[in-house]
Amino acid sequence: MDSLLTQRATRRQTVVVGLSAVLILLVFVVAAPQASAPLRAVGPFMPMCALTVFTTAAIAAFLLTAQFTATRQPALAALAGAYAFVALAVAVQLLTFPGVFTATGLLGAGPHTSAWMWTFWHAGFALFVMEAALLRRVWGPASVDSAQAGPWTWWLVGGPIALGAGLCLVALYAGLPPAFHPLSRGQVFAHGSTALITWVLNVLALLTVVLSGRMRALLDQWLLIAMLACLVDTTLNFMSMAQFSVGWYVARIFSMLAPGAVVGLLVWEVCLLYRRLFDAHTSLLQTSVHDGLTGVYNRLYFDTQYPKEFDRAKQTNQSLSLVIVDVDHFKQYNDAFGHLKGDTCLIAVTRALEGILPSPASFVARYGGEEFVIVLPDTDLRGALEVAERARQAVLRLDLETPAPSGRVTISAGCAAMTRDETLAPDELSHAADIALYRAKAAGRNRIELAEAHQSVS
Ligand code: GH3
Ligand code: MG
Ligand code: MG
Repeated sequence: MDSLLTQRATRRQTVVVGLSAVLILLVFVVAAPQASAPLRAVGPFMPMCALTVFTTAAIAAFLLTAQFTATRQPALAALAGAYAFVALAVAVQLLTFPGVFTATGLLGAGPHTSAWMWTFWHAGFALFVMEAALLRRVWGPASVDSAQAGPWTWWLVGGPIALGAGLCLVALYAGLPPAFHPLSRGQVFAHGSTALITWVLNVLALLTVVLSGRMRALLDQWLLIAMLACLVDTTLNFMSMAQFSVGWYVARIFSMLAPGAVVGLLVWEVCLLYRRLFDAHTSLLQTSVHDGLTGVYNRLYFDTQYPKEFDRAKQTNQSLSLVIVDVDHFKQYNDAFGHLKGDTCLIAVTRALEGILPSPASFVARYGGEEFVIVLPDTDLRGALEVAERARQAVLRLDLETPAPSGRVTISAGCAAMTRDETLAPDELSHAADIALYRAKAAGRNRIELAEAHQSVS
């Protein structure tokens, strides 16, 4: 099964992605020259951003894992792993950040723990995105074997989580040196290497996404936006490591965009699927209760709706009538003109019956073959007789020629009513209408018989 995300993007979607990319680059170009300019310190800004990244990355990981279990495309599991890794790394970075929960950070954090967690987050995300892009290149839209889905999930989602947990322990307890130092002559490799490696990994990940996906599918396009945001975040961070500087603030905003862009895409997809499911369900319901030939309600609808109408009539102490209609000598019509013309005749009779329905609450259903039933809520036997007579006249007015003795297509009908305070079962009422119909047939057809009063009209 193919996911909506891996289908080809429309022109409009591509334009939106293109504009988003231009906007990101524009913000970078404006912010970069003044990256180290100090701004007012807003203490809660960093925890707010970290919490947002944690929440959106966790949601992205969950939704992508769910997508993988449905489509079994390994790139989706790899991406889920990338976001699960980010969620874990950012959570530990937040907990160990000096001054957020305690002055030195929770979990026994050292002075460099949170900086290392930031590095692991940005380097690891880039690596796992590369892995996802390469898997997409190698596997294309193919799915892994369903029996292999479990091991793939463990490997591609569980693996990054396990690695993230290991790196957390390293950052917390291995007594690592400072993650970054300002670059200076002779110290580039010793102190700037972590920054350099992280930045290069981000550039490589962006290039891998661009070159491997060829930017046709929505997923590739939004992954490009996520990776671009991550690269701008990383670059601005390295341009100005001082807290509360322009670069620091803009980098934090972009750090939220990397998981946010993909979560937005996934939520959009879920909404689209929900709408499609709703439409499919509605149309399925419609087709399941309508007769394929005539378009009126079918027997299934009658069998479920009639008892409900019956109960409602009893509860509200109202009358309810049934008119069972049968086309006279229809076999002869078929024999003379063939089944196709017979079908056309049945459709015409149905339209005539629909045309005489007295209220929106009443309905006609195809009972079977050339038999129809009209359900008339809040209608007594007299009202049913009037409706049946109008139906008989309407069919006569169709003026459909037939080899039957009458020369024109006619119907016979049996009417039965449940009057107020009457104790009847639904089956008894329909049986009474059926018996009346048989009497109408026996009495010569093209006539109406009433179940109770035993009167006939012709
Ligand atoms: P009566 O007046 O006693 O009702 O006679 P009749 O010929 O109408 O009744 P009978 O039960 O002998 O035949 C019913 C015919 O209706 C036979 C069957 O082929 C035809 N019929 C049932 N459903 C359809 C349908 O969907 N299309 C067509 N063309 N004919 C149908
Ligand atoms: Mg008939
Ligand atoms: Mg019949």
